[in-house]
Amino acid sequence: MDNATPAMKQYLQIKQDNKDSLVLYRMGDFYELFFDDAITTAKVLNITLTKRGFHNDKPIPMCGIPFHALDNYLPRLIKEGYKVALCEQVETPEMAKLRGNNAVVKREVTKVITPGTILEDNLIKDSYNNFLCTVCQDDENQNNFIVAYADISTGSFFVEQTQNIESFLQRISASEIVISESLKNLEIVQPIVDNLKKITVLPDFKFNKKNNMIVFQENFGIYDFTSVGDFTLEEINAAGVLIDYIKLTSKLEKVELKNLSKNVSDKALKIDFNTWKNLEITQSLTGEKKASLFYCVNTTKTNIGSRYLSQMFANPICDIDELNLRFAKQQFFIDNYDLTLKIEKELHQIPDFERAISRILYNRGGPRDLDVIKNTLNILPKICLVLTEIDFEFNQFLSEYNMSDFCLSFNNLKDKLESALMDELPLLARDGGFIKTGYSSALDEYKNVAINANQYLENLQEKYKKESGSISLKIKNNNILGYYIEVPSKQADYLLDQKNGFIHRQTLINGVRFTTNELFELQTKIESANSKILGLELEIFEDLINDIKVHSKALYELCNKLASLDVFTSLSVNARQNNFCKPEINESNELIIENGRHLVVEHFLKKELKDFIPNDCVMKDMDKINSRIWLLTGPNMAGKSTYLRANALIVFMAHVGLFVPASHAVIGIVDKIFSRIGASDNLSKGQSTFMNEMIETAAILNQATPKSFVILDEIGRGTSTYDGLAIASAVLQYIHNVNNCRTLFATHYHELTSLTNSLANLSNHTMEIKEYNHEVIFMHKIKEGRADKSYGIWVAKLAGIPSIVINNAKAICEKLEKNKDEADLPLFNNIEENSKEEIRIPSEVEEKLQSIDLDTLTPMAAMQFLYELKKKI
Ligand code: ATP
Repeated sequence: MDNATPAMKQYLQIKQDNKDSLVLYRMGDFYELFFDDAITTAKVLNITLTKRGFHNDKPIPMCGIPFHALDNYLPRLIKEGYKVALCEQVETPEMAKLRGNNAVVKREVTKVITPGTILEDNLIKDSYNNFLCTVCQDDENQNNFIVAYADISTGSFFVEQTQNIESFLQRISASEIVISESLKNLEIVQPIVDNLKKITVLPDFKFNKKNNMIVFQENFGIYDFTSVGDFTLEEINAAGVLIDYIKLTSKLEKVELKNLSKNVSDKALKIDFNTWKNLEITQSLTGEKKASLFYCVNTTKTNIGSRYLSQMFANPICDIDELNLRFAKQQFFIDNYDLTLKIEKELHQIPDFERAISRILYNRGGPRDLDVIKNTLNILPKICLVLTEIDFEFNQFLSEYNMSDFCLSFNNLKDKLESALMDELPLLARDGGFIKTGYSSALDEYKNVAINANQYLENLQEKYKKESGSISLKIKNNNILGYYIEVPSKQADYLLDQKNGFIHRQTLINGVRFTTNELFELQTKIESANSKILGLELEIFEDLINDIKVHSKALYELCNKLASLDVFTSLSVNARQNNFCKPEINESNELIIENGRHLVVEHFLKKELKDFIPNDCVMKDMDKINSRIWLLTGPNMAGKSTYLRANALIVFMAHVGLFVPASHAVIGIVDKIFSRIGASDNLSKGQSTFMNEMIETAAILNQATPKSFVILDEIGRGTSTYDGLAIASAVLQYIHNVNNCRTLFATHYHELTSLTNSLANLSNHTMEIKEYNHEVIFMHKIKEGRADKSYGIWVAKLAGIPSIVINNAKAICEKLEKNKDEADLPLFNNIEENSKEEIRIPSEVEEKLQSIDLDTLTPMAAMQFLYELKKKI
């Protein structure tokens, strides 16, 4: 660094402090990037990479972005997962000169923008939260993780404990994850590090519990963290790490977040990573949001509502009281449909004021954010008026919407914003021109000076025109000359004559520019008025911002109420229009779904003008036909996978507290949903399709309880027929005998259907088909019984496989069918015995016999041992 220029020394120091960010170094009207940052940025943004000066005798790679175009470029860098440190000039060149002629203008990083700390509208998606999250390992139980996560664009702030970190992060769709150096190296978190590229690693000392407790307490201005809720020190530690990180990146003294709330895991319905993915809850397997359950259910009218609903999706629960409360709200809005439509109409106009509040709290707001809050408050009385139609005393579960009094507290703020803000507003306060005339007499006075000065300018122009006889004379203004008089070259003679009092400034090809003492004085007056106007406007802006800050808690509360109102009214309209029913949730282990539908498949079939065929799924104890475990066989394309997913999604929706696409539903509360569907490789982890299938299956067998709901599609398909059949059979027996959970098990191994003879809680079901004129018709209807064949060859024909291949396949199939009996027998003759053997618990005597080493046993000890055994019997 020794031979670097002073400016380069300054840059290198700043880069040293911001190693993991791209440093955008402000130089005049440009942000410039150097060295590797320049090479990366030029590549990502597709801009020219040049060179400037030398460092250690090598040219320095450089690229630049005009400062006013930052908003266009920044999103692209953030989207690619980069952090960006904005390094601004924090003094003017004149100020720097006071320290000596060679002094470099002071620069500082004013904020670091990371994927998890963005607030700018064009960088974040409206309908989804943008969660920054930190993961800490529990010291006492290494399998347990404490996760704090916050969306600074909405102020939401949560903490949760989880044993399944991968599925958790998938569920909340974290944008950036902050972890410690030592956690990064743990094998257990490798999947996170591999799967999610937006990881920020902090040194271990940043995870010091005591320090983070102080950070937390200071930020919320409390003496003891126990005063804000029932949190453990570990949870406060995680929350403190997050606050510290936001403070560090945003360069703020205080982080504005809502109160920390805890998602209690024992009331949560657990869904693992693969199940969440397979069920296509928030996005399809190919990553499309439009082919997801959330997309089909979300008909909210506002962005705040949409985010509220996505939070409900991310946190399905098994708390029957809370679920019934959610159902009751929807039932009310369905029963009072006209009122609901009126509320929806008003909600439609609510802008995204939650994000406006957050930008203001983080000092990143502008006049338009104030306008968003003003517009929200203006719509509020209309909403409150409609809500007065609700009898809140009779419907106490709706009490959060009884907000007439609460809304009155915003009246002063609303009036103030209304009287202060103009109709058309600039994006940035520094552009000025956004305060209405009449709001401030001091401001109006200066505005009058400016307006009068304009009049003076016009008068002066007329005077000079007459004096000079030049009809084209004009008074103009630019940044370099300020105000000046311009005449075409041919009409300049009068002005060029010095005795007429005009002072020559510039000669152009077609014109000549002048000034006069009079014009100069006028310019000084205008400039001083304009700078006073801007100064006063900025003061008023600050005052309005402070008012919002004072009301921020109440505004956030308002936001929550309106978001909830939007969610429950829109869900009700959707439920009514699409014939959903209110599910009954109870403590039993039953499942009764009548005429259940798969919303996403139905949505796409509708586009092709086709109907979705609804189906039942009834599982009861002591009912052979409607037993707890269904073995589902049927031809390809008959609708088995759709049926499995439809039921799992209905169970999921019921645990979010939503009405479900069925005519009747009774669901015994579920603790975990599992799915194993389709074939997928995880090549990045070095796992083949079959390995992946077995890992997912193992997770189910190891974790499912009698309260769980499991769907399994095509277990054992990824290996040889006999291996696969044996595995499928053993898995089914284990689920029946050990897990004992409600299960839908789809398979092409028709041989498994004979297991119903030995497994009491297993029943056979199949998808109905009809054959007509050598054509197969899929009825997509489930019925009791078993499939006799697969129709795979027929589907292959439909798909366009050449007829020569089809005919060959038919011939091979016939041959195999002939030998089938021989092949089947050895395996399935033993099924019953195997199953008994597998789950039989050995007696104490057997265990003792098993443990003895005969080779080392003395005759005396053997005798003693025999006595002992006899005693046991
Ligand atoms: P495979 O065994 O080949 O995997 P499958 O039996 O699992 O097939 P699905 O993939 O569930 O069959 O369904 C095939 C197609 O049938 C779906 O894409 C859908 O278009 C249609 N389908 C499925 N279920 C229904 C239904 N209940 N009503 C109408 N159409 C349906």
